[in-house]
This record gives sequence, C-alpha cells and structure tokens, in this order.
Amino acid sequence: MEKSENSKSERHGFGMKQEITPVLAQTYRSELVEKIKTNRYEWEIGRVRFRLAKEFGFCPGVDRAVDLAYETRAKFPEKRIFITNEIIHNPTVNRKLIEMGIRFLKGPYQGETGIEDIRKDDAVLIPAFGMTLEELKHLNEKGCLLVDTTCGSVIAVWKRVEQYARDGFTAVIHGKYDHEETRATCSRAGRYVVVWDKKEAECLCGYILRGGPREDFFGMFRDRSSEGFDPDRDLLRVGCANQTTMLSRESIEIANSIRNVMIAKYGEAELAKHFRHFDTICSSTQDRQDAVQKLLSEARPDFAVVIGGYNSSNTTHLLEICLTEGVKAYHVKDAGCFRSGEEIEHKPLGAQTPVLERGWLSEGKITVGITAGASTPDRLIEEVILKISQIANGA
Ligand code: SF4
Repeated sequence: MEKSENSKSERHGFGMKQEITPVLAQTYRSELVEKIKTNRYEWEIGRVRFRLAKEFGFCPGVDRAVDLAYETRAKFPEKRIFITNEIIHNPTVNRKLIEMGIRFLKGPYQGETGIEDIRKDDAVLIPAFGMTLEELKHLNEKGCLLVDTTCGSVIAVWKRVEQYARDGFTAVIHGKYDHEETRATCSRAGRYVVVWDKKEAECLCGYILRGGPREDFFGMFRDRSSEGFDPDRDLLRVGCANQTTMLSRESIEIANSIRNVMIAKYGEAELAKHFRHFDTICSSTQDRQDAVQKLLSEARPDFAVVIGGYNSSNTTHLLEICLTEGVKAYHVKDAGCFRSGEEIEHKPLGAQTPVLERGWLSEGKITVGITAGASTPDRLIEEVILKISQIANGA
C-alpha cells in the first residue's frame, strides 16, 4: 500500500482470530450449505430439488476483508472505527458492521461523519475494492490507523495500470466507471478511458482506426476519461485492464477487438509498440462464472436464483450468464424477496431498481439452480433455500 510518513497501516490483522472465529461462524456460515456440498451439491426436499453451483459465495478477498473488520473492532473496542464505503456489496454484511458501531464515511450507509472529520486516534477500514489515491493521501495526512482490506487481485490491477503509465500507455479499463474499484484503478492509471461494454469498445476502436469526429468520442467518454484526454494523442498506445469482477468473456472480446484494430492500423510487426493486454479478472470471479455455466449445462433447472447485493457487479454477471444460456433467473438480495408463492422481488438485468413479479413458482416437481456472488455469506444462501422450500412445500 502507498504510505506517507504520517500513516500507520495494517494489512495482516491483529492476532484476534481466536476471538472472532466463533462470531463469524455464527453470523455467516451455514450447516445446511455444508451438508449440501457434501451431498454432491444437491438437496431434495418435498417437491423441490436444489442444485448448487460448485463455486459460489464468499471469495478469499471478501473473507479477508470481513475478518479484518471484525478483528479491528475486537482489538479496539473503545476506538471510533470508520469505513470509507461499503466493505463489500452486500447489505447484510454492511448492516452488521453498523450494528458493531462501525460508521461509513461515504456511500449508501453514510453516517454524519465525513472524511474531513477523521481524527488521529481513529481507525479507518479501506474496503476490499480499495480507495482512490486522493482519498488515501487525505487519510494519510490525518495520521489515523488505516486497516487496509484491499484485495490482492485489485492491487494486481493497480500494478498493471501503473506499469502502463510508466511505459507511456493509456489504460483502457473494462469496468463500470462509478464502481469504487474502477475509481480507485483510474486514480492510479495516469491517462485512462473506461469502457463499459462491447458497444462502447466498438466506438473506441472506430476512433483508433479512423479518427474523429472528436465530439462523438467525447459524447460517449467525456466523463469516463482522464482529465485533458486527447483521443488523437492518447489512443496511439493502449494497455487493457479490467475491473476484477467483469464478465471475463466480454473482457477478452473487448481486448481482442482493440488488438485487431491496432494490427489493422500499424501491422502485426508493430503491435507491441501500440497494444498491451493482461487479463485481470480475478480467479474467484472466473471460478464462479465457470461453475454456473457448468451447473446450467449439466441439467437445466426450471429456474435459477442468483443471490447477492443489487449493486454487486460479479452477482449481476452471474445473472447475465443464466439469461444468456436461456434459463429463467432471478437476482434476489435475500430470502425476504420471496414474498409468497405468487410474488417475488428481483432485479432484472439492466434495471436500476428491483421489481415485483407474479407467478414465479410452478406446480409439481421443480429443480432450482442456486448460485451467489462473491460477497454473499452462506447463511444468506441457507435462508433463501429454506424460504423457497417453505413456500413450495407449504411447511
Ligand atoms: S471477487 Fe476477486 S477481486 Fe473481488 S474481493 Fe473477491 S477475490 Fe478479490
């Protein structure tokens, strides 16, 4: 982590594992989910057969971030403890932190204290997504204790874009511009442009190949490129990177399309001078995407349930995979979304807010595919499974 002379930072915890392990187990783990795993990831109860993806839920980066937050609280019961934004994109976990007296400086759970009110004797948690260099500098100047839970896979992306900047390459970042991780990555990239999908990548490729009009470029990328960005100068040499939780297939396609226009413009022999690419999708994200694909291809469920925060990027991509495979799928945040045998709350792909839908549960035997984003605890998955079973079996 970048440090100033004023900062005290901790990335490895405070030796409080013994104290926090039972609390974490009680809050987030699930005996039912463990049982289903040992039963070849299947569970049949009444008329419902549940099939779980082989990889789902908490990833190592999220596990570590949650552990560090609990350790910090246990180590410093008297200290004011803050977190810069959501620790991970899961409302249940964020609300637990609030119950523990941890306050949020920004984001949907923001309290009354802002980053400017932080004092030297406070502790501030940096979330798994990291934070921007500007915010980090600000906190370093405060001299508070920084507990850095930034995931190693995110730091690997930062190293990549910093290298691009040192070598005079502009970072083309496949991600969501206002996602905390992408903001943090942009702050380290020097010159950058953020591309959300293949349609935007096509526009970028068109400019690389043919140039202008500049207004068209800025119509799409003005808010998503670095200050003073000049597409005629800054798209001559580009390096691709991604937000760690994007759909890997799409990231690869975007990188390939940029690679192809660089070849078309400069020739294969000159490619290395104009194009670089390293896949920075994290392996946990990839594993969850592969596992849901396999789940759907082995035996098609009647519908799939994707559990995770509505603003969770990796959860949304799991939903996208289900829909692309032609499987009916519901993105739910918790068991409360199953209102009755008639009504379900879920967030359709691309929607800004969740909707209520009727008629999600059919008669007779059903098979339900289950997966969950990297920030979803097993306990939440258990609650969803039990709620579906309770409604379907009338017990
Ligand atoms: S999804 Fe990947 S990058 Fe994000 S916290 Fe988990 S391991 Fe780290």
